[in-house]
Amino acid sequence: MKRIISVFCLAFLFITTYTSCAPAAARYQYADTAMGTIMQFNLYAGSEDSANAFAETATDMLTQLEEELLSWRLETSEIYRINAVAGSGQATALSEKMVSILTECLDMWEASEGAFDITLGELTRLWQIDAVAAGEVEKGTYRVPSAEEIANALSHCGSDKLNMDSTGATIVVLADMQLDLGAVGKGVALDEISILLSNYPDITGAVISAGGSVLVYGTKPDSSSWNVGIVNPFDTSATIGTLTLEGSGWFVTTSGDYERYVEVDGVRYHHILDPATGYPVQNNVRAVTVLTKKGQTGDMLSTACYVLGVEEGMKLASKYNAEILFVLSDGSVKMSQGMEQYFHSNE
Ligand code: FAD
Ligand code: MG
Repeated sequence: MKRIISVFCLAFLFITTYTSCAPAAARYQYADTAMGTIMQFNLYAGSEDSANAFAETATDMLTQLEEELLSWRLETSEIYRINAVAGSGQATALSEKMVSILTECLDMWEASEGAFDITLGELTRLWQIDAVAAGEVEKGTYRVPSAEEIANALSHCGSDKLNMDSTGATIVVLADMQLDLGAVGKGVALDEISILLSNYPDITGAVISAGGSVLVYGTKPDSSSWNVGIVNPFDTSATIGTLTLEGSGWFVTTSGDYERYVEVDGVRYHHILDPATGYPVQNNVRAVTVLTKKGQTGDMLSTACYVLGVEEGMKLASKYNAEILFVLSDGSVKMSQGMEQYFHSNE
């Protein structure tokens, strides 16, 4: 299975351009799909061979991450195995990596006072917003769940029902519920890619993007700054501005209501859910971008701060030493003081 997948990836992966830059390193670009989104690798490398080798290894690693750890669809993953026995009282053994991922998720659940919650799987399946975005629900057939269905699904959610023993590396899920790591998977993936990059000295710089999450690594051949555009939620073909970043190891993560949503009778139902109500978050936020030094932290924070809104979101971001920028429904932008040095508006 794995071999078929990696051969399949290789068959279409190593596409596109090779642009000459400075004498030392050239730019190589790759794209692939993983975790329901497009992964793009822009690599500055001393040779095409090392760029190809990295892209191949990283692609295999992403497949492995999904198959062995994170997927809620594949029976081979730890999350699938945890979900399969949820509510039965049975403990599931956890890998060291999963203990680390879940520990951080539970810390964020506490710090966000429940706004970030990885136990919303039953609710996300009920709302089916990802299925709509993936084209799996036929246009015009979407039905907004009833208040009763939402209340029922919500009653099965809550990270307080997770009993993790990090010493024994097991977890018992105390209710019949489903874990959903959709809000952290890409951040975890970028952390792994960042570690992998450090094993390839010939790759001196990289921009890796996974949907709304971007890692900038190393330096450009001409030593200029990295620029990461921030999408305009009102016109997703445009940006509102750019984050200008010096140095290596920055993660820029955005959560918004403009990519995964369905509109019914003029109401937009998007994929970020309020664990307090079971409904898509309804506040004045259209998008949140956070700047961190760790991918998982950024991914968790962007989701949590979307739920919390500007005031509480700013406080949470500062607890994690993250900078944050909100685009609000009236088109205004609010950001942490520290973000001002990085953000350059198009206006
Ligand atoms: P984020 O804000 O980072 O996350 C939003 C997602 O987190 C929601 O879609 C939901 O899953 C969950 N969530 C919602 N509210 C909360 C909350 N309050 N607290 C915590 N979590 C919340 N998409 C597909 O269409 N098809 C696939 O086959 C598919 N497979 C995937 C496999 C993996 C391993 C991962 C990590 C993701 C996959 N996805 C897939 C994408 C996934 O379903 C999410 O839509 C996506 O990760 C959302 O990322 P985001 O950065 O846009 O939003
Ligand atoms: Mg997230």
